[in-house]
This record gives sequence, structure tokens and C-alpha cells, in this order.
Amino acid sequence: MPRFKEYNRGQSVLLAISFDRQILPGTFEYTLNFLVDNKLDLNIFHHKYKNDKNGRPAYDPALLLKIVLLAYSRGETSSRKIEALCRENVLFMALSADSRPHFTTIADFISSSPEEITALFSQVLLVCDDMGLIGKEMFAIDGCKLPSNASKEWSGTKANLKKKSKKIDRAVRYMLAKHRDEDQKGENDISIRKREEQQIETLLKASDKIDRFLKNNDERLGHSGKEVQSNITDNESAKMKTSNGVIQGYVGVAAVDSKHQVVVSAEAYGQGQEHGLLEPMIEKIEEAFKGDEQSPLMDGKILADSGYCNKDALAYLEERNIDGYIADNRFRSRDPRFKTAGEHKPATSKKASGKERFTTADFQIEIDKQHCICPAGKELWLKCAKAKIASNIFMQFQGHKEDCDHCTERDKCLRSVKQKGARQVNVKIGNFVQEKTGPLERMKQKIDSTLGRHIYSMRLGIVEPVFGHINDAIGIKRFSLRGKKKVNGQSD
Ligand code: SF4
Repeated sequence: MPRFKEYNRGQSVLLAISFDRQILPGTFEYTLNFLVDNKLDLNIFHHKYKNDKNGRPAYDPALLLKIVLLAYSRGETSSRKIEALCRENVLFMALSADSRPHFTTIADFISSSPEEITALFSQVLLVCDDMGLIGKEMFAIDGCKLPSNASKEWSGTKANLKKKSKKIDRAVRYMLAKHRDEDQKGENDISIRKREEQQIETLLKASDKIDRFLKNNDERLGHSGKEVQSNITDNESAKMKTSNGVIQGYVGVAAVDSKHQVVVSAEAYGQGQEHGLLEPMIEKIEEAFKGDEQSPLMDGKILADSGYCNKDALAYLEERNIDGYIADNRFRSRDPRFKTAGEHKPATSKKASGKERFTTADFQIEIDKQHCICPAGKELWLKCAKAKIASNIFMQFQGHKEDCDHCTERDKCLRSVKQKGARQVNVKIGNFVQEKTGPLERMKQKIDSTLGRHIYSMRLGIVEPVFGHINDAIGIKRFSLRGKKKVNGQSD
């Protein structure tokens, strides 16, 4: 029979802990403790307290700030979990001097101090600057889309939301009618009835929430002046496409200095597109260094990807005489170094299975007669005689839906057998000379030069690791507060 070491929980051990000695030099918590105690002016929080003469003493903002920042640096943004850490984790006990603030105190401190936290961000930046951590030679701007504390199911235009509210009311009426019917027949099951009554209550609350939102809010307008989807939980967040599907969230945009990847400016925007955010971010960089003798952008460079490239943004850079390197979405395709990039991409499922779809060459096309016959012998209709796509002109033909729906060649012709709609064929018939002047063209020439490519290639290494670190190393993958102001405080 095997023998095991004996153990006995019925014993006492005296663990002597010196909180001061838990904060070891060289660690993040040591730096944090030093910074908060010695470098930051926390008087900015004092106006929030009205207990000079009456009331209980409050928790020192320095203490709350230390535990919140330590928790955030470990990816923990829930105030309940921060409260638990202050009870269970010796580092948090040491930083909070074992005072164990309640989670509501922590939550209130975080959500009610966005302006103060933004001011602290500026103070930290000054400390970094004094220590020579900011080079001010090159700033890379980029954004990262993160989900907000709101569900995309509660998004829609005002018309959509009205429809949703009516649908819920219909469902409630149906259930109530069912209950009346069952009562008359004496067929009601108590457990089912109880569950359905709870459902009715939930539905009524939801419908009431939508109605109140519709009553108190105007329709939300996008940049183009057209209505965009509102969200009844956090109407400043937006529905946006990401590589992981559609989310309800904010795009957190950061400007990062190249020397030590210090974030010099950050802001959350409730819009899916980063188009139009270059100018405000540049202004925020200048704002961050407004105490300097000269703007860092007098000599500094700005790098940003194609999401920020548009005529207005480039004209703004030229007007302000800022040395910007903003790629357009054809930048890679013009770069000879990426000429063979396509060969290394994994084959699509159709190519991999050897079933490439019919190309234009498989169709019988007579340009002058504007006539096109598909491999199944069906005639396609002329959709557009001269369609301009990039700098090319195409003649576009489209199959008749009824032909394509019943065609035996669908799997060879359409992108997918599940594709709804008919096959479209674009035949190139010419190209037009694009205007070779203007800020877009000048930026293309600048970024396509050897020096331009060299400088732009640094963007990836400056800004992307910062988002990688926040998302994957620290583990912050969503905003837990609601409203742009609070979310901004959290992102700072
Ligand atoms: S899918 Fe449509 S266009 Fe393609 S071969 Fe069949 S009928 Fe012709």
C-alpha cells in the first residue's frame, strides 16, 4: 500500500506580513506606489468631497487610484473583483493598507472621475517626458475596436426600435389572451403560468425601456447627415464590423510615440470608421504637449494606415505643414516587395478543391453588340455599359436570377452555391487617366519613395504592439462603463 505525507488543516500558523515589504523595488506596483505618492497632484479629486466638517472620512483617492490601476494592469476592470483582490491578494492588501473598500466605492470612484483621470493621464505624460521616455520624433496613430457594455440587440434606427417595441407588445398581448383562454377552459398549469408571467414582466420592461428611449432621444445622425443606428443602452457606442464579426462598441484610437511606445493621447469614438479621426488625434497630440516651447509636430512625423487616408485629412496635413505618412488602400499593391504576396496566401476553398469558378474568358462576350452568353448558354443582361471602378472602365453584365437559381453549373459559376442572386461579369473596356494632382496623389508619391516606405514601415512596430499588449497580455478586451465620457476615462 502506498504511503503519503500526512497533512492536517487543524493547525494554526502565524504569518507576519509587513505590507511595506510586499512592494518590491523594480516591480510595477513599486513604480505605481511611488508615482502616485510623489509625482501626481491628487488635489484634483478634492472638489468631489464635501465632508470637511461633517460626515465620515472618505477613502483617500491615492489608495483607490493605486488599487484600480494595479487591477487594470492585470486586466481586471470589475469593481467586485477589485474588492475581492483587496481581501485576498497580498499586493492589493499592501497597496490599500488592508482598508478593504467596498465595490460600490471603487465603482463610484472609477465612473465619477473621467475628467480627473484624463488630467492624471496628462500628469503621467509629463513625468514620462521629464524622464526622457518620449522622443517626439514620430507618432503612430491607430485604433482598436472593443465591445462596449451594451448589446447590439438593442440597436436600431428609430423606425426599427418602434417596430421592436410593437413586436414585444404583440407578444405580450398574445400571451395574455392565451392565459384568458386557458382560465376559461380551466387548463392552466401553475409552473408554466408562473414562468410565462415572468416572461410578460420582462417583455413589458423591455418595451417600456424602448418607449422611454424613443421619447427622450432624437434620431442619431452619422457623418453624412443620414440616420445611423441608435443603441438604447449606450447611445454613444456604435455597431461596427470587426474581424470577429459585428460588435456594439467603441474604437479606441491611440497616438503612440516611437521612442518607448508611450501612448501620448487616447480617445474612444463611437463610430465604426476611423475616417475623419486623424485631425482630432493630431490636435490631441498638440494639446498633450501644449506646455512645450514648440509643437512636437514642427519636426515630428505622423504615421497612420489607410483607414485615416482621405482627401480632407491629407489637405489638413499639408495646410498645417505636418510631415505625415498616411498609406492609401492601394499602397501594398504598388510596392514591388509585395509583388508575390498573393502566392503565399492560402488558397480559397474553391481553388483548394480544384473548382475555380468560371472567369470572364468562359463567357462569350461581344463588346460592340453589348452581348454576353454564359457557359450554360444563357444570355446575360447589360447592367452597366460604362462602370468606373478605380481607374478602369468596365462593361457589366448580369445573369437573370431565374436562370442562375436553377442552373446546374451554379457551383462552378457563383462564389458559393448558397449565394443569393445571379452571376455578374465585369469586362474591362478601358481606363481613364486619374487626376495626378491633389493631396492624395502627392501622398502616394511621398509614401511610394524609398524613404517614405522605410518610414511608414515603422508604423507597425510602434503602435500595434501597444494594442496587442492591452488586449492579449493584459487581457482588456472590452469597455465596462457606458457613455463616451466614462469610456474615455477608462481608456486613459
Ligand atoms: S449560374 Fe447563371 S450565369 Fe452562371 S452559368 Fe448558370 S445561368 Fe449562366
